[in-house]
Parts: sequence; structure tokens; C-alpha cells
Amino acid sequence: MKIGVRGGFRDEFERFQGRKRIVYLVSLVCGILIFLLSLFLQESGDTFVQVLYPIYALLFAVVFVLVWREFLPLWMLEVMMFVTIAILIMGRLAWHFHFAGPIDKQLLVLAGGHYWAVGALVVAGFVMLDYNWGLRAGLIIIVLSITIAGISVTNDVIHGEVSTEVLVYLLRVHLFLMLFLGLTSAATVMRQKLQWALIRAEVLDQWASTDLLTDLANRRAAEQFLKKQASIAGRHGRRFSVIFADVDHFKQLNDTYGHAAGDDVLAEIARILTNSVRESDFVARWGGEEFLIVAPEIAGESAYQLAERCRSEINKEPVAGYPVTLSFGVTEFMPEDNVDKVLARADEMLYKAKAAGRNQVFGGERSRVES
Ligand code: GH3
Ligand code: MG
Ligand code: MG
Repeated sequence: MKIGVRGGFRDEFERFQGRKRIVYLVSLVCGILIFLLSLFLQESGDTFVQVLYPIYALLFAVVFVLVWREFLPLWMLEVMMFVTIAILIMGRLAWHFHFAGPIDKQLLVLAGGHYWAVGALVVAGFVMLDYNWGLRAGLIIIVLSITIAGISVTNDVIHGEVSTEVLVYLLRVHLFLMLFLGLTSAATVMRQKLQWALIRAEVLDQWASTDLLTDLANRRAAEQFLKKQASIAGRHGRRFSVIFADVDHFKQLNDTYGHAAGDDVLAEIARILTNSVRESDFVARWGGEEFLIVAPEIAGESAYQLAERCRSEINKEPVAGYPVTLSFGVTEFMPEDNVDKVLARADEMLYKAKAAGRNQVFGGERSRVES
């Protein structure tokens, strides 16, 4: 288990994209079902439905496969889907007015249904595109809608057949659409601000618990982890091991090769230790050149072996090009322990490993039996 500042943001973004993908897939299936149902259930022979709905269903099916198989980046698919839906809805609206003689009440009832879809489209722009494009798309759609209705109304005016009722209706609809755009735009800005605040809080939280040089958990995070493990162990009688690892004669390495070399060594040790333990084990930089490993569900001989494996991995090759060894102090959490006690015991074991000549593991079942 390793805390990474870099991973956090990208992971969160990927999760969000994944959820969006699922929403799109479900919506596309619903769309296909609606087209097919309309096709089979319609009573009057509406040519529009008969000719275009099978094409729409097919189009939706193609987009479904594109989203499902992740053929294109999600933002491209979102633009594609938005433009397609916009063409469908605005096309349907234009179709009505195109076949209109003078706009009568019946036509307005039909068009009224489509205006709901236009309103939904204005909102969808903010969901599927980013804020700026959502706002632009909303404006373009409202202008298009005014143009479509405007052409018919102008036609009526020319033929002297315009009714005030129609004009008031269309005015009301477009005022509503603008209200929709305004409200959704404000809500989107609020939501984005909140999201940024949450992301910032998360990144700050990760920074506060991550060591910059090694990218490992820092002492603060390690103490929190230990407290949690201690409380789990206390409640459920679980066991866990605590291992201190300290670089041997690190001061000498710093003095000989320089502080930068020392830093490289620490970062490389962090990498080796992380790779030598299991995913469920916790590695932290406790301070200076001292590392802490907490291994849940591991005790006795296994903890000794874990430390021994880390020690031999460090010994295998020069670390960042320098000869480096580590000493280890191993202990396990006892029922009557608290965090301070178990740490003190691990430190005591480490001290013994140093005193016994360094580059060795002290503590764990084995040395308890031996000593
Ligand atoms: P021992 O085998 O007894 O542990 O000897 P040691 O020299 O490793 O122990 P000591 O505690 O005397 O020295 C630790 C050194 O670690 C001193 C300090 O300058 C160095 N150190 C601590 N933090 C850092 C760091 O972030 N980078 C580098 N390069 N050195 C560090
Ligand atoms: Mg040391
Ligand atoms: Mg030390």
C-alpha cells in the first residue's frame, strides 16, 4: 500500500469518466428502445417516424458500440453524441414547421412536445460538454429554435395569417428556454467550483500524508495507520507486525558522496522496500533514513522472513549505485500493547540489530527463540 499524490487526481478523473460512460450506455439503450417502441406502436402512418426512427436506432446502436468498446476518447464521443441528438431534435422541430401552413393550434401542441426536448438539450450541453461549450451550444440551440419558428411566423405575416396567440406562445417558449440556459449555467458553475474545492482538499490531504522525497506515506500517515491497526487488533484479536528499518552508516555515505547521493539512495530504498512487500503491507518514511513497515495479519516467523526478504533485496545490488545495507527491528502487536509500546519495542530490536553488527534482522519469532 503506497500513498501517491500523482495518482489521486487521475484516478478520480478516470472513475468519473467510467461512471459517465455507464450513464451514456444506459441512455443509449433507452433511446434505442424508445425508437423501436414508437416505430411499432404508432397508429397513424407518420412518415417521419417510419423513415427516420430505424435510422436513429441504428445510429444509437453504433454510438453504443463506440462508447462500450472505448474506440474514441470520451470527450469526442460526447461531442458526437451531443451534435447527433441536437440534429435529431432540431430536425424534428424544423420538420413540423416546414410542413406547416399557417401555424395553427394543433401544430403548436405538436411543437410544444418538442420544445421540452429542446429544453433538455440545452441542459444536456452542460453535462456532455465542458462549461464554455455547454453555454455556447445552449445559445446556438436557442438561436436555431428562434430561427425555425421565425421563418414560419414571417411566412404567416407575409400571408397576413399571423395570430397573436401563436406569437405569445412562441415568445413564452423561448423565454423559458433562456431561463433554462441561465439556471443550468449558474448550477454548473457552482458544481464546478465545488468539485475543484473537493479535489484541492483531497490533494492537500495527500500532500499532508506523503513524503516528498520518496513518495511514501510520511510519519503522520504512518501514525494514523498504526492507530487504526491497533484498534482493529484490539477489537477483533487480529495480529500485525511492526518493522523498523534504518540505513547503516548513512551519515558516512552522505559525507563521502554528498547529500544528493544520499537522497537518491533513500528514494531507491523506498522503491525496493515497496516492491518487496505485499500490496496490503504499509511502508512509510518514519524520519531521516528510517523506514517503517506495518504488516497486517503477519506475525512471528513470517514477520522475520518479511524483514529478511527486504534486507536481502537491498543487498542484492548497489542501491542507486552505492553500497548500502539496512538493519531491521521486528516485533508484533500484543493484546496488551498500544502504539507507543509496540514502536518502542521495534526500536529496541533495531538497536540490537545495530549493536550486533548491522545489516541484519533482529526480533520476530526466530530471534525471540534464540535470545
Ligand atoms: P547507523 O548505522 O548507526 O544508523 O549510522 P547512521 O550514520 O546511519 O546514523 P545517524 O543517525 O548518525 O545519521 C543519519 C544521517 O541521515 C544523518 C542525516 O544527515 C542523514 N539524513 C537524514 N535525512 C536525510 C535526507 O533526507 N537526505 C539525506 N541525504 N540525508 C539525510
Ligand atoms: Mg542509520
Ligand atoms: Mg537513524
